[in-house]
Amino acid sequence: MSIKTTLTVLTFLLFSVASVTAAEPEFAKDIADKAAWVRDHAADDNKSMAIVESLTTEVGPRMAGTEADARAVIWAQNKFKALGFDKVWLEPVTFPTWKRGVEVAEIVSPFPQPLVITALGNSIPTSEQGLSAEIVQFASLDDLKAAKPEQVNGKIVFINRKMTAHRDGRDYGPTVSARGDGPVEAAKLGAVGLLIRSVGTHNHRMPHTGNSRYKEGVTKIPAAALSAPDADLLVNMLARGNPVTVKMTLGSQPGPMYTSHNVIGEITGSELPNEYVLIGGHLDSWDLGTGAVDDGAGCAVTMAAAEFLARHKLPLKRSIRVVLFANEEQGLWGGNQYRDRHAKSVKNIIAAAEADFGQGPVYMLSSRVKPEALPLVKQMQQIMAPLGIEAGDNNASNGPDLIAMRNEGMALFSLHLDGTDYFDLHHTADDTFDKIEAKRLNQTAAAYATFTFLAANAPMSFGSGESYLVEKAKAERNK
Ligand SMILES: [Zn+2]
Repeated sequence: MSIKTTLTVLTFLLFSVASVTAAEPEFAKDIADKAAWVRDHAADDNKSMAIVESLTTEVGPRMAGTEADARAVIWAQNKFKALGFDKVWLEPVTFPTWKRGVEVAEIVSPFPQPLVITALGNSIPTSEQGLSAEIVQFASLDDLKAAKPEQVNGKIVFINRKMTAHRDGRDYGPTVSARGDGPVEAAKLGAVGLLIRSVGTHNHRMPHTGNSRYKEGVTKIPAAALSAPDADLLVNMLARGNPVTVKMTLGSQPGPMYTSHNVIGEITGSELPNEYVLIGGHLDSWDLGTGAVDDGAGCAVTMAAAEFLARHKLPLKRSIRVVLFANEEQGLWGGNQYRDRHAKSVKNIIAAAEADFGQGPVYMLSSRVKPEALPLVKQMQQIMAPLGIEAGDNNASNGPDLIAMRNEGMALFSLHLDGTDYFDLHHTADDTFDKIEAKRLNQTAAAYATFTFLAANAPMSFGSGESYLVEKAKAERNK
């Protein structure tokens, strides 16, 4: 071999090695083409509409721990089977229950008139005669925290934080703190009750329920939400400068422990059946509406996405697992118990995504994967772009029922749902099937089908259970 030839061969070898190490992971052409087909065809499928219609009609409100919770579990098992899932099973989830009772309120003085309220989840009852006290108003939970006991002692605290509507729902967190922590903060200052302006973005006369918490060592006080116009009424009356006295009567009660179930349906993958894409929503709802947008929609789009892939016999290297979580609303019980059971096998979850922010449409795809897998995410974003989906960052955190597994270093994706009108309906009597629009729900189901198909056929791990995601979760928790 001449020196020249040797050099040429060496150069060639070096170049080959370099290009092998620099090669970015990518989906096989066949998979990318099929994903585009899924994207275009699942968008016309009305299966997810039929599923929400079925759940809201045949089960309806299904608050955790009620007899309807048990009926929802049976409905979900039967639906998975009817949709052709290969395996359907239950995993028990145990939690304390809470029951709503009578809930009425009125302004006693200076200008007597009724108020529309609903008890916050977890609230203790008032006495049967009701609780009458003067109102003290605060603009936010932070203002309440800054108050002196003499301002609050013996009164009913009224927190009037107005929530504004945004596509990403970013004002929910700052507003909902009054609901979650209001009872404890008010009681610490000697309040005898709590009324909050509903955590919502509509001015209909419908109060929004939702969970609240007590703390060991702090007196429990009854807590309820006023509809937005009733909150405005109180504000106007208080503006006249005279004391306003309100009477409220709540009959809500804590109940015994109850065991419900995460209901799981799986479509078995062909090459790596133990590895799976985890998608789903929560099966429970609040009791006021029929749980159409929260979270019938999330259950439906994920069930329909998996069913679409199976019905059209698309190749699936890994399994698809749809989990309908139990009791999200009263403390993420289903998600936490899923973690207790499956944290050890987090590496088997190729990727996860939960739909729990209404009917959509999906406007962005963000990820939470190891850096080496980012070229795959980019390709997924390109394939999904024709659905009107933008590329997001690598800090996805969506999915209340996935928080526990996220802390174990699970790779996840967020299919960001347009939440502009979600908090008009959220946790109210108005969360009913007629609010669901086929065009929006179908787009969401198509986005889930496309995402799920690609994740099931990914050429490499997204990093579940590997150090990058484990450390990322740890760093976030320590913040
Ligand atoms: Zn929800």
